[in-house]
Amino acid sequence: MSALYADVIPGISHEQLDKPFRYRVPEEMTEIISPGSVVKVPFGGGNRLITGFVTDLSDEPGFDPARIKPIFKLVSDNELPESRMITIAAWLKAEYGCTMSQALKTVLPVKEKVQKKETRLLKLSDDTQMVEGYLERMRKRNAKARVRLLEALLVAGELDEAAAKKDLKLTLKTVKELTEAGVLTVKSTFTYRNPIEGAGEAPKENIILNEEQAALVAEFKTALDAGEKRPLLVHGITGSGKTVCYIEMIDHVVKEGRQAIVLIPEIALTWQTVRRFQARFGERVSILNSRMSRGERYDQFLRAARGEMDVIIGPRSALFTPFKNIGIIIIDEEHESSYKSENVPSYHAREVSGFIAGLHGASLVLGSATPSVTSYYRAKRGEYRLFTLTRRATGADLATCFVDDMRAELAAGNRGMFSRRLLRAIAERLEKKEQIMLFINKRGYAGFVSCKSCGHVFKCPHCDVSLTFHKGDKLVCHYCGYEEHIEKKCPSCGSTYIYGLRAGTQKVEDSIKQIFPNARVLRMDRDTTSGKDGHTKVLREFAAGNADILIGTQMIVKGHDFPKVTLCCALAADMSLFAGDYRAGENTFELLVQAAGRAGRGERKGEMIIQTYAPENYVIEHAKDQDYIGFFNDEINFRGMMNYPPVSHMLKLSLTARDEDILNRAVSLLKEKFFSGSLEEMGVTFIGPAKEPLYRLADEFRVAVFIKSRDKDILDQMMKCIGDYIRSEQVFRSVFTRWDRE
Ligand code: ADP
Ligand code: ZN
Ligand code: ZN
Repeated sequence: MSALYADVIPGISHEQLDKPFRYRVPEEMTEIISPGSVVKVPFGGGNRLITGFVTDLSDEPGFDPARIKPIFKLVSDNELPESRMITIAAWLKAEYGCTMSQALKTVLPVKEKVQKKETRLLKLSDDTQMVEGYLERMRKRNAKARVRLLEALLVAGELDEAAAKKDLKLTLKTVKELTEAGVLTVKSTFTYRNPIEGAGEAPKENIILNEEQAALVAEFKTALDAGEKRPLLVHGITGSGKTVCYIEMIDHVVKEGRQAIVLIPEIALTWQTVRRFQARFGERVSILNSRMSRGERYDQFLRAARGEMDVIIGPRSALFTPFKNIGIIIIDEEHESSYKSENVPSYHAREVSGFIAGLHGASLVLGSATPSVTSYYRAKRGEYRLFTLTRRATGADLATCFVDDMRAELAAGNRGMFSRRLLRAIAERLEKKEQIMLFINKRGYAGFVSCKSCGHVFKCPHCDVSLTFHKGDKLVCHYCGYEEHIEKKCPSCGSTYIYGLRAGTQKVEDSIKQIFPNARVLRMDRDTTSGKDGHTKVLREFAAGNADILIGTQMIVKGHDFPKVTLCCALAADMSLFAGDYRAGENTFELLVQAAGRAGRGERKGEMIIQTYAPENYVIEHAKDQDYIGFFNDEINFRGMMNYPPVSHMLKLSLTARDEDILNRAVSLLKEKFFSGSLEEMGVTFIGPAKEPLYRLADEFRVAVFIKSRDKDILDQMMKCIGDYIRSEQVFRSVFTRWDRE
C-alpha cells in the first residue's frame, strides 16, 4: 500500500494557504482523516506540537519522504466551522478541477480589518457621597461644563459619550477631568458595523397568506421536519408572493435556533427587499454586496461566526457565511447567470448550495418565475420537488404581448429600427404621460449574421448554434471550430440583404430624439453609469418621473419596479436569441418574460412588444404567451437531440498560450492521448478545438475544447485524468488551462 501524505496549515488565513506543510499520515489514521480534520503536528525544531487543519491529501510525498514527519494526533474530524469550510473547498476542488488553494480562497473571506466602531459609555461612580461632594465644589467654582455633565449623569445614570458631548456641548477635556477625579468611569466597547443599522424600524407587512402560499409554507415545514433532502423548486410568476413565503420559511427555521442564507442577484437586491426582511428579523439580518469594502464583508462573517445574526442576504459569495447550523438556503431568481462564478473555480451557487445544505441537514429552496432549464428538468425527473404558485397576489394583470416581424416592416418600406406599432404605442404613452422602457438584449451577443429578407440565420451544421462573424469574412462555430466563408447570397431566399445586427443604445437614443424631439430620454449603459452608484442614479431619476423613456441594455429590465411603465419593448430580440451558445434560447426567454413583467405593475395594464426577424421561433412564440412549460418542452427536446446540458453533462477546458504553435501541440496531444476511439464507445464525445470569441487577447491565443457525456461519473474521472496528464506533461508548462462545468 502506498503511503498517504497530508497538507497542513497552522491557521486559516489567506497567507498561510499558499504555504501548507506536508506530513505523513500514520497508517491507523488513513481511513478517518479528510480535508478539514484538525491535527497536532510537530513543528519547527525540537518537539514543539502545534494544531493545524488538513487541507489536502495526496499519494505523492512531493519531496524526500525520509524528511517528512508523521502527524502526531488526530484531534477531531469536521465539526469546527473552519473544518466545514475546508470540507466545502475540497468538494469544490473535486467538482471544478481547481487547486485546493484556489478553492480555499473562494470559501474563506479575505481577512481585513476595518475601523471598528467604538462606543464609550460614561458611568457615575457608585460612591454617591463622593460624587455629591465633588458636584458641590464644582458649583462653587462655577465650573459649568462639569456641573452640566454631572447633573445629567445623576438623572440618567449613564450616558453615551458621543451623544453627551453633542447634547451638553462638552469637550473631551471635561470628561477627562471627571475621570481623573474618580467621579466617573468610561466603559469602552467595540461593535462591528451592521450595514443596515441605523435604517430605523422597517414598516411591518401585515399579510395573511393566500391558499397557495399557505400550502407552500406548510409543505416546506413538513418536509423539513421529515428530513426531506431533495431541494424544493418554487415556480411562481412575479408577484405571486415568493418573497412573502420565504420570510415565513425563514421564520420557522430561525425559531428552531438555526440560520438562513438568502441569495438574491445583486441587481435585484434592492433597499425595499432588504427592508421586508428587516421588518421581520430586525437586527438579526445582515447583507453582503460588492459595494462593501473587504473589511466590511469580513465583519459580516465574524458576526455570523459569533452567532450575532440569523439571516444573511447577498449574492453568491454569501453562501460561504460561516453559520453554525444552517436550516435553510434560499436562491431567489435561481435562473440568473450571476449565480455562476466567472473566476476559478467556476462554481454554480445552486450546486454548492446542495452540498452545503447536505452538510447541515438544511433545506434548499429555489425560486423563479422562469426556472432554469436545469432545475426544471431535475424537478421533472423527481430530483427536486416542484411547487407552482399560479396567481398574482396583487391581482395585477400580466402585460399583453405583441410580436412585430421586422421582415414585414422591411417589406412595407420601413427601414428604421422601430416597428410601426411601436411608434404608435410610444406616441400614445407620451400623450398619456406614462413611461416607456426600450432595451437591447446584447448579452452574449457575439455577432451572428442573418438574412434580413427571410430571417435565415447562418448556423453550425454540427452544433445547431449560430455561427459568429470573424475577421476575414469568416463565420465560426464556438463549440466545434467549424468555419465557413460568408455567403453573399441567402441560401434560403436568394436575397443579398445579409448582414449582422448592429444596434447600440446610443443609436437608439439618437433615433428616438429625432422622431420624438420633445420626449425626455434617459439612457442606461456603461457610458452613462460610470461611478460607484451610476446606475442607481439613472434608475432613481426614472422612478421619480424625470424622464418619459428609459433606454438601455437588458440591465434595465432586471428586478426593478416602476409603476408608471406601461410599455416595454425588446428592440432586437434576435441579438441574444442567436448568441452562438446553446443557452441562448433560455436566456432570451427569461429576459423577455421578465421584461413583460416590468410593464404594467401599477394600476394600468401594460404592453410588451418584441421586435424580431424570427417570429416563428419557439422561444419567441412561448415568450409572447408567457408560457414557461411550453417553452421548457421545446427547449428540452433541443437539448436532448443535440446532447446539451442538462440532458448531457458538459465540461469545457480552456487553453491559453502566448505561442500559437505550442497551443496547437498541446491540443493535439490531448486529442491523441484521450480521444482515440474507445471513449466514443463509452458515450464520451470530444468537441473542438474551437477558437474563443476573442481568439487573440493581450498577445495570448485562446481555444476551448468541450467534453460531453450523459454519465457524470465518467466526466468527473476524465477531468481528473486529464488534469493529472496536464500537470505531468512538459508542453503544458507554457499553457494556462482552466475547467468550466456547464
Ligand atoms: P414575488 O417575490 O413572487 O415577486 P412578493 O412576495 O414580492 O412576490 O409579493 C408581491 C407583492 O404582493 C408584494 O407587494 C406583497 O406584499 C404582496 N403580497 C404577497 N402576498 C400577499 C398576500 N397574501 N396578501 C396581500 N398582499 C400580498
Ligand atoms: Zn433569405
Ligand atoms: Zn459547431
